[in-house]
Amino acid sequence: MTNETWGTVRQELLKSIGHSNYVNWIEPLEFARIDNGVVTFNVPTVFIGDWVSRNFGDRIISQMGKSGETVNRIEFQVQNVASRPAPAARTDERRAPAPRAAPRPEADLPGAQLDTRFTFDTFVVGKSNELAHAAARRVAEGEVVTFNPLFLYGGVGLGKTHLMQAIAWELQARHPELRVLYLSAEQFMYRFVQALRDKQMMDFKQMFRSVDVLMVDDVQFISGKDSTQEEFFHTFNALVDQRKQIIISADRAPGEIEGLESRIVSRLQSGLVVDLHPTSYELRLGILQKKVEQYRPQFRGVEIGAGVLEFLAHRITTNVRVLEGALMRLFAFGSLVGREVDLQLTQECLIDILRQSDKRVTVEEIQRKVSDHYNIRLSDMLGPKRVRTFARPRQVAMYLCKHLTQRSLPEIGRRFGGRDHTTIMHGIRRIESLKDSDNQIAEDLELLRRSLQDQ
Ligand code: ADP
Ligand code: MG
Repeated sequence: MTNETWGTVRQELLKSIGHSNYVNWIEPLEFARIDNGVVTFNVPTVFIGDWVSRNFGDRIISQMGKSGETVNRIEFQVQNVASRPAPAARTDERRAPAPRAAPRPEADLPGAQLDTRFTFDTFVVGKSNELAHAAARRVAEGEVVTFNPLFLYGGVGLGKTHLMQAIAWELQARHPELRVLYLSAEQFMYRFVQALRDKQMMDFKQMFRSVDVLMVDDVQFISGKDSTQEEFFHTFNALVDQRKQIIISADRAPGEIEGLESRIVSRLQSGLVVDLHPTSYELRLGILQKKVEQYRPQFRGVEIGAGVLEFLAHRITTNVRVLEGALMRLFAFGSLVGREVDLQLTQECLIDILRQSDKRVTVEEIQRKVSDHYNIRLSDMLGPKRVRTFARPRQVAMYLCKHLTQRSLPEIGRRFGGRDHTTIMHGIRRIESLKDSDNQIAEDLELLRRSLQDQ
């Protein structure tokens, strides 16, 4: 294949995977050679190679086929890696059960790929995340282990994964000698189950115990999964004993994760626990401004009109991911229609997102807000105790879930510790009748509703 053929293949990929994927993943590839059905590309990092082969490998191979090249495998080699043999992130084109390879000592940590966008540079700091950010920065220095573990928690889309991966990038840059392993709790469980099945527990244990920094994202995932928790606990202890840094994230505080063993909870609480609060208007605006800078080179010529960013920051409030998606869509639209993206175009283009975010309140948010409001623990609100101090807030939360979310009663029941839908209905009725006779309840409801809807 010549560079020219690769040029054609790239054009086709651009059409099929979209501009931003193309810029992020295909542009960094440099065609090196093709040999015996194996095409090799130079890539700047192992992660990019790995990501590309997982997500676009098949597509690249089939596109090459269409351009007349017989290719059945892609290999990546990392450039600019001084004095190390280039670790080839080799991938068979189909991820059929891989032949069990001899364990490769280095380079074979079973982590997730890091997203190249999730660095400290691109993270915007505001009041709601400054503590989490400062803690992450400290840990990313990779010097003395002061807080162990660092436990980050907060609602969906508030930047937990971004911060964790920023730590990983930073550590890799500052201390390339450290073995940093980032993975989701789900991947941890998957590896564990796989090791059990393949009778490779020794390898599994050894590998996890040999890392210098372990990062596990979304740890709430292992709640209720007993044997995974057990293994996680042992890994955790072994690493803490060796004074290795551990960083954990979850969507709620350790004590609020149901179905998590208490010894794990107290282990998780033994370091530094920091939360990411819901974003403020100013932070959202700051994030949008930063993203505009980032997108601009990809969308040359697209102008975002006056007031548009402010409008988005005002209207899309709960989840930064949705906010970003909205902005990305505006850029894409702008480049299609070839005129300035003004407020009117914004509203037309984002009608579905705006409509959703108007009532975008989750059961979890309601539960959290209500338990804060009444000053009780979330676990007590969700738990079985029937004393009035817990039962009343619980019923208030049920009522709000019914009115502010689209969830059905059985769904709400499941999220309230597996209660039956008739219990939920009873709770809702109770509040409906109370709010006419009890001013305090009526006021609480109004306050909670407002703070949930316009946060
Ligand atoms: P979480 O893991 O908490 O659900 P993520 O870390 O995946 O959330 O963040 C969702 C999206 O929002 C990501 O694209 C991330 O880059 C972006 N984001 C969140 N917080 C910030 C921030 N403070 N600055 C810049 N981008 C952010
Ligand atoms: Mg996440």
